Amino acid sequence: MKCSICNEKAVGSFQEKPYCSEHFKEALESFVFSFIKEKKLIPSSKVCVAVSGGKDSTSLLNIVSKYMQNQGLGKPTALCINEGIEGYRDKTIKDIAEFCNKNDIDLKLVSFKDEFGFTMDEYLEREGEHLSSPCSVCGVLRRYLLNKHARDFDVVCTGHNMDDEAQSVIMNLLNDNMGLLARQGYFSGLLHSDKFTKRVKPFYFVKEKEIMIYSLISKFNISFNACPYAKADFRNPVRVFLNEKESEDKNAKKNVLEFYLSIKDRLAQQFLNESLQECQICHEPSSKRICEACRIREKWTSF
Ligand SMILES: [Zn+2]
Ligand SMILES: [Zn+2]
Repeated sequence: MKCSICNEKAVGSFQEKPYCSEHFKEALESFVFSFIKEKKLIPSSKVCVAVSGGKDSTSLLNIVSKYMQNQGLGKPTALCINEGIEGYRDKTIKDIAEFCNKNDIDLKLVSFKDEFGFTMDEYLEREGEHLSSPCSVCGVLRRYLLNKHARDFDVVCTGHNMDDEAQSVIMNLLNDNMGLLARQGYFSGLLHSDKFTKRVKPFYFVKEKEIMIYSLISKFNISFNACPYAKADFRNPVRVFLNEKESEDKNAKKNVLEFYLSIKDRLAQQFLNESLQECQICHEPSSKRICEACRIREKWTSF
């Protein structure tokens, strides 16, 4: 197959059009730039990018950084949370530190161990077989730290792509979790508070495999290993299901997201009356008296 612009050999397709490496990069970047602009995802120079050292967040940091410099907004700050997963996160942190160093981007490192007193490895070892889903515990703690440490910024950009987001819609439907469903979208959350930093997703309409190609062309120093604990996650069968659907209909994932966006506002109305409180223990914002992160902390000390 040949590049649809220059006739050179194509390396992959972006939105169903084949491109050579140079034009693939250009097409993906200009699509994301337009999306950021159209949806006003980056309103100021106070921008933080949540990074893990994987392909999605490294590609995102690169693109947001380019976008901001084009707009005269300076550079973003990278924020990396170390969950303490040996043989996995330690390696990706080294990669992202190197990337930030090379590109002169400030990197802020925060760890579960310093904040909560335990690593994810230690937590799972203690909890053993009682644990329902490692990813949900890890996700609560990560979102908590992300919000806490991004407070000085106007937005936090996260690397969630079209695959992640379509999976989350289906998972929240299957779990009957309407509250969480209402908070999805390229702008996360619905309760406004000074204590909540808006989370935005510039890759909302970019497929995982397109980011994979972008990261390979860009020659980022990244590893493609998945988290060792993710095997048990309910996300996996949903991912397989959506990939199967996509092989029959290339718009399957996009359809899920467009349907979701068309009902989001009406769905969100139902949850707007939920009042935002302060957690009695840590004083972080919470929809309950005690926040989820403090519940997990309590559980850890009770083992
Ligand atoms: Zn080309
Ligand atoms: Zn709390």
